[in-house]
Amino acid sequence: MIVESLTPLLSLLDKYETKATFFVLGTVAEKHPEVIENLHKKGHEIACHAYSHDTLYKLGPAGFEKEIFKSVELLEKYKPIGFRAPSFSINNDTKWAFEILEKYGFKYDSSIFPIKTMLYGIPNAPTHVYHPNKQDISKHDPSGKIIEFPLTTVKIGFNFPIAGGFYLRVLPIWFLKWGIKRVNKNRPAIIYLHPWETYKEIPKFKLPMFSRFEAYHGISSALFKLEELLKEFKFAPVKEVLANEI
Ligand SMILES: [Zn+2]
Repeated sequence: MIVESLTPLLSLLDKYETKATFFVLGTVAEKHPEVIENLHKKGHEIACHAYSHDTLYKLGPAGFEKEIFKSVELLEKYKPIGFRAPSFSINNDTKWAFEILEKYGFKYDSSIFPIKTMLYGIPNAPTHVYHPNKQDISKHDPSGKIIEFPLTTVKIGFNFPIAGGFYLRVLPIWFLKWGIKRVNKNRPAIIYLHPWETYKEIPKFKLPMFSRFEAYHGISSALFKLEELLKEFKFAPVKEVLANEI
């Protein structure tokens, strides 16, 4: 499934000569090393998304370190310097993650969502690139070693997420473009996707009308929007965007 779902995404990136950052799960690197090698050969950045996709809340410090150790070993050849936590599960309850990331040679993290949701987010965290303080990761600390590139939000009274995933699928394209332009006045924006979010699963039942809708809906909601954004904006891997700060 990962291979099939990556194909249309990779052709789209090729079409617009765009390189991206792939936050790779250890389980995927273990099962499909050739897929990761192919991403690397194409010039994309290989970064880390931990091993199992369990949240940091569930893993705890010891479990998380085990996952990072394993993932870093699996991705050793690519020397990953970037990390994204599964389900954006870094907040002040899991701030110990920064110590572990530092220990394993990571230079940047991109997991903090400066919004409030039931599952994740640090609503008062900066919306721009900063160095989290280890005692309170919503605060900037110039001596902090890890650089945080928070997930993109646009301020409309409160921080509104426009960065990708679910938001990319449900928000209208005009709003996404408007939001990115607004953010780009003073900072870069991040667009993220899981490969499965672009991929139409094979319907289990033969319901022609339903599957047609699914097919159309799948394309219109993720790949179509991504293509519209690739036409209008210039994207680069995170490590390139942060090159002056790393
Ligand atoms: Zn994920």
